[in-house]
Amino acid sequence: MTGKRFGRLRVLTYAGRIRERRTLLWLCQCDCGERRVAPYPELRNGQVTSCGCRHKTHGQSNSVEYQTWYSMRNRCFDPKCRSYKFYGGRGITICDRWLGPKGFVNFFADMGRRPKGKSIDRINVNGNYEPGNCRWATNHIQSLNKRNSKANKPAASPQADIANFTGVEEPF
Ligand SMILES: [Zn+2]
Repeated sequence: MTGKRFGRLRVLTYAGRIRERRTLLWLCQCDCGERRVAPYPELRNGQVTSCGCRHKTHGQSNSVEYQTWYSMRNRCFDPKCRSYKFYGGRGITICDRWLGPKGFVNFFADMGRRPKGKSIDRINVNGNYEPGNCRWATNHIQSLNKRNSKANKPAASPQADIANFTGVEEPF
């Protein structure tokens, strides 16, 4: 697969799979310079032919919500992402509904606008990105969440200790 071309996308590397659909995900480089993760069937049948620059139907690619969604995908699926090891590397993934061509639209429908000063937070820091486990939270709530999880699950190893930081998202 690596190096194969689908429209404007060139496949870079394997990026995991969606268990429920038995679908493989591939990290692709778009001609415009953006990267995206795409499920194989959607590449094969031509549903996905660019990072989204070809079909900017939601018209929100510069919105903070879109950036949140975009960096969430990178954290979970792009091994080159700085914080991948705290997310994808620990098995944190994104629900089906928030992936694929309708992924952002569904994410936005579920999460709504990001209130000022808040960022996406997973209620259970060991849980996935999915509607029931995500909320817009202030850094204060996120650090409380982090502390609670630390108190509930004492770190057994440096790795476990690092894992407790996953409730905090990267600022952008
Ligand atoms: Zn593009």
